[in-house]
Amino acid sequence: MISISEAIAIIKANIPAPVVEECPLDQALGRYLAEDIQAPEPSPRYTNSAMDGYAVRWGDVRDLSLERPATLAIIGESRAGVPFSGTVGAGCAVRISTGAMLPDGVDTVIRVEDTREAGQSVIINVAKRLGQDVRQRGEEFGTGDLLLRLGARIAAPQAALLAAVGIARVKVFKPCDVALLATGSELIAAGSAIADHQIRDSNMTMLRAAVLETGAQLVSRARITDDRQATVAAIGQAAADIILCTGGVSVGRHDHVKEAAEENGFTPLFWRIRQKPGKPLYLARKGKTLLFGLPGNPVSAFMCFTHYVRPLIGAIRGLSFGWPIVFAQVGEEIVNKGGRPNMLRVRMTCDADGGYAATSAARQGSHMLTSLVDSDGYIIMEPGQAIQPGERVLVYSFDFR
Ligand code: AMP
Ligand code: MG
Repeated sequence: MISISEAIAIIKANIPAPVVEECPLDQALGRYLAEDIQAPEPSPRYTNSAMDGYAVRWGDVRDLSLERPATLAIIGESRAGVPFSGTVGAGCAVRISTGAMLPDGVDTVIRVEDTREAGQSVIINVAKRLGQDVRQRGEEFGTGDLLLRLGARIAAPQAALLAAVGIARVKVFKPCDVALLATGSELIAAGSAIADHQIRDSNMTMLRAAVLETGAQLVSRARITDDRQATVAAIGQAAADIILCTGGVSVGRHDHVKEAAEENGFTPLFWRIRQKPGKPLYLARKGKTLLFGLPGNPVSAFMCFTHYVRPLIGAIRGLSFGWPIVFAQVGEEIVNKGGRPNMLRVRMTCDADGGYAATSAARQGSHMLTSLVDSDGYIIMEPGQAIQPGERVLVYSFDFR
């Protein structure tokens, strides 16, 4: 039996090298950049107006006052997408819309609210400074400036920035492939008729969801009975970066996952971790493929997935191996009376100061899915540890951000 940190060290030492692929921007959402992105052009690309109004020469409006407004001849218009082609001379103005190109000859924009039209002229009442309401070419960034760093997640703003500078394809880390294998002669597909001695296969549903939430790709799903040959065959057929088995990994006479993996040429990396729940976790490797034998108990399987598999999937996608964590204040005393470190599920609420308060979830049984549904994360407590009311604790959040 190894410790939680030993298990993590072994997993980290076996992370497959991330694979980089190029894909269209539309398919890069939620993925992580495998390259730095430099601006191929400046932003704004052309000097344009920040307001609907009139493009003018500062020299023509510099000396105006409320008593002596400036009157300029309107000689044309620059609209978004339809620029004014001429040059604006002294005493002249051009109507301009937000985002429209600033014509040659002008340097300043007067917003509509500070003007009044009279025939073919515009009367300007207020002008504050040279260049007001003009967005200068390159004022946001210039060609070659760093826009996004390797490792950046492509969400809506990042995708928009790439689109804005004309980048339609990006290099991203390839999400890993996952194969699921549920073992257990008692299992029946959720939705099928069930006999008294059977169990609905909720792990398949849970792990499918958990895998997809972390951005990995599910390539196969299979459910088999506790039969050694069937287990050997199913593991042999599962082709993926990560094979996730559930059940059949303890010391029972009908637990075949470990032997079946090794019969398929997998080398065991560890079996059993000093923790509760999730003690029977098994990890083996064959080439670049990692096989996890998750315990069958749904809560144990989920906790093992969350603490070990999820950060691994993240690392393959280009993230650093880690967990989403928050700090919270404990509301009442929590004691770990057991002999193993306990991944204790906690419920989080916002306290009066805007921080988090954590309380132990009422149900902690490893067969009780409600213990997960009713909690927001977990804390890891050492054997015998007692946490006092008001103490701050590190909470591993179930939310994957
Ligand atoms: P095992 O790890 O195979 O000894 O299973 C431990 C417990 O988890 C047993 O009560 C099983 O019935 C239950 N279990 C195993 N696999 C699943 C599954 N896929 N869905 C729900 N419960 C399961
Ligand atoms: Mg079983």
